[in-house]
Amino acid sequence: MRLQDLAAFGGQPLFSELKHTAQMNLPEWSKLKNTLRGIVERSYFTNHGPLVNQLEQEFAKALGVRHAICVSNGTSALMIMCRALGMRGEVIVPAFTFPATVQALTWAGVTPVLCDVHSQTQTPTARQVEACITRRTTGVLLTHVWGQSAYSDDIQKLADAYALNLIFDACQAIGCTHLGHQLGNFGKAEAFSFHATKIVNATEGGCITTNDDHFARCFRAARSFHETPDDPPGILRMNGKMSEAQAAFALLTLEEFEQNLTANHDRYTAYCRELSALPGIVVGVYSDSEVNNYQYVNVYIEAEVCGLTRDELFDLLAAENIICRRHFSPGMHRIPPYDSMPQQIGRTFPVTDRLCERIMQLPNGQQVSIEDVTRICGLLSEIIALAPEIRAYHQSHQCLG
Ligand SMILES: *Cc1c(COP(=O)(O)O)cnc(C)c1O
Repeated sequence: MRLQDLAAFGGQPLFSELKHTAQMNLPEWSKLKNTLRGIVERSYFTNHGPLVNQLEQEFAKALGVRHAICVSNGTSALMIMCRALGMRGEVIVPAFTFPATVQALTWAGVTPVLCDVHSQTQTPTARQVEACITRRTTGVLLTHVWGQSAYSDDIQKLADAYALNLIFDACQAIGCTHLGHQLGNFGKAEAFSFHATKIVNATEGGCITTNDDHFARCFRAARSFHETPDDPPGILRMNGKMSEAQAAFALLTLEEFEQNLTANHDRYTAYCRELSALPGIVVGVYSDSEVNNYQYVNVYIEAEVCGLTRDELFDLLAAENIICRRHFSPGMHRIPPYDSMPQQIGRTFPVTDRLCERIMQLPNGQQVSIEDVTRICGLLSEIIALAPEIRAYHQSHQCLG
């Protein structure tokens, strides 16, 4: 391959259609059609309908958790969870997370205090969390990054010692485990997302799980503007309901969870195999002793080894219609308004910064075949072989510019 064969330099893109990261896992059309027809025939479109109730039961059963409360999306799950638990003042949250984790706290009226993460686990250690505790701290919200548990007994002990609410953003963690136990069972409550890019897909959708009967009633009350006799008093309400159409998608993709997980795992294994010999492209590994949903194929780009930065590679791949992601880049401490909050001023987040500079998610999901994976990796290998030429080209054009 020559430089001019790359799409960024005038060649034909490798793919004629876009290859995305975490693309929709669509349920079988015949099943979807039947389920949607049922909604129309019942004329029951929303307000805790039969499909939402069924989804709550099936999701709770799959996770082995007492309560699953479906809501409109993962962000509202986080907002409701935080608000209905009565969190106030400051809540500690990782700087390396999806923006919604932190934004939900702001909506719930609490001040997020960002915390750096450990380079190996990509989640804060108990020590890192403890260093952020002030007299105003009422809670800790940690993210199960890439479905890997953020829970540890140390974190739980710390939360207990300081009487803090410990909750989790489990939006990426459907079907994932901590020491063999399903995530969704830890802390006071956990928030899941059924966004189109997640392995269980309601187009938009979310769910709060908890083993606490009282909190479950609080969450149910908060997601609806109408009061019922069963509701605890003093709950701030909103419209966070899930519709029947959303539940239809989620139920069908939940039914296909195992096969989607297996397909994800096959693609992940193919990526690992194809990229193992490539210098400077390190595939993120998942623990063999836990279940993961393999929805995220992360690679870490070592520019000093492969000769190109993550962003250079990202752009070269995008030109070929290979649409990668750079989650969770930039770190939340660099995103307004969090970059200028007094709680963050003068603090540094070196581990988050370093992760954000190197991480990239490769295409995955139903629309990516194993053959696609082979082609993507083959191209990556060609690109890296051309790295010195690409560099030289960029440098000469920077001089011209
Ligand atoms: C997807 C995601 C969210 C947001 O979920 P939505 O359903 O899109 O609101 C929050 N946190 C994490 C870690 C996510 O991956």
